[in-house]
Amino acid sequence: MAVTALAAELRAAGRDVIGLAAGEPDFDTPEHIREAAIRAIREGRTRYTAVDGIPELRAAVADKFRRDNTLDYPPGHVIVSSGAKQICYNVCQAVLDPGDEAIIPAPYWVSYPDMVRLAGAEPVIVQTGLCDGFLLSPEQLESAITPRTRLLFLNSPGNPSGAAYTAAQLAALGEVLAEHPDVVVATDEIYEHIWWAPEAFTSFAAACPALFDRTVTINGVSKAYAMTGWRIGYAAGPAVLIDAMKKLQSQSTSNACTISQHAALAALTGDQTCIATMVRAFRERHDFVVRALDAMEGIRCRPGEGAFYAFADARDTIRRLGLADDTELCQLLLNEAGVAVVPGSAFGTPDHFRLSFACGMETLREALSRISRAIG
Ligand code: PLP
Repeated sequence: MAVTALAAELRAAGRDVIGLAAGEPDFDTPEHIREAAIRAIREGRTRYTAVDGIPELRAAVADKFRRDNTLDYPPGHVIVSSGAKQICYNVCQAVLDPGDEAIIPAPYWVSYPDMVRLAGAEPVIVQTGLCDGFLLSPEQLESAITPRTRLLFLNSPGNPSGAAYTAAQLAALGEVLAEHPDVVVATDEIYEHIWWAPEAFTSFAAACPALFDRTVTINGVSKAYAMTGWRIGYAAGPAVLIDAMKKLQSQSTSNACTISQHAALAALTGDQTCIATMVRAFRERHDFVVRALDAMEGIRCRPGEGAFYAFADARDTIRRLGLADDTELCQLLLNEAGVAVVPGSAFGTPDHFRLSFACGMETLREALSRISRAIG
């Protein structure tokens, strides 16, 4: 968000800047979803709802988990919040106490470590890299767990790496966790549908049924349905944890926006073909961007399984250009190429940068040729 703001500032000053820093789809929310919101307003559905969401939406979320993920959650184990961001925050507040530790594989979504700190606990960052496909290994997990570990964040497909765990890889992590009954798993699956790996997406709790009772499955409509501004996320998990999250929410924001809940209901229960249309575009852009980045001297970029980001290893370029770090590289790309990307250090993995391909192919072609010229 900071890089996007800086790019907007430069643009306002008359500079030609291509913004590839934002984490949101460039598509409009599909028409039938927008119509459902307009209908909700017309029908006067504008009052408070139950703190954890309207019953129809919670039932639709439970149906979604059954349909897409073979997970059987009663609607009472489902909560709807103002974005997956609020869900993650509430999980931290509900699970963590001062002195506790939460394991977060890096590169991570920027908010996890600060959410852990805001709960008074300590983030334990485990570094992954290009050579292990940006995936946490069972050995790394085992050695990061201490008697104080209470939470593990997983994010598949991942922001910023685009990397996703196979069912077998999740099961291997599950085997480690089986020996540590005090650890809750928060699995952030918000990019589930933006997916092009040959193997179908597997939800953590589906791969590790023995851990079902201590897994919070987190998802939302922001990414799959291009609904970032509507602020609807949801989760399902053990009743005791969902109840605690509901209590927190009742004393902070109460229900998520009523009108947006009706829009999310239309998203989850309506025609799903809108997702495929967007994913086709994301995949075409992914293939182009990853190939173009990886072909540049001093840049290595691994194809992702999903999401809409490329995460490039630029350590050789940083060294060759005599730059101090990835932040200087991103400043150079912004100032000299007029392209805004985010330094890897923001995600806990220095020497990299994240490029979001949530924009059209013409813009991407221009951006990639500018990057190539600037670092060539
Ligand atoms: N989780 C991840 C991994 C994300 O990348 C994002 C948004 O960028 C979120 C959660 C938050 O999504 P929401 O818009 O539902 O709050």
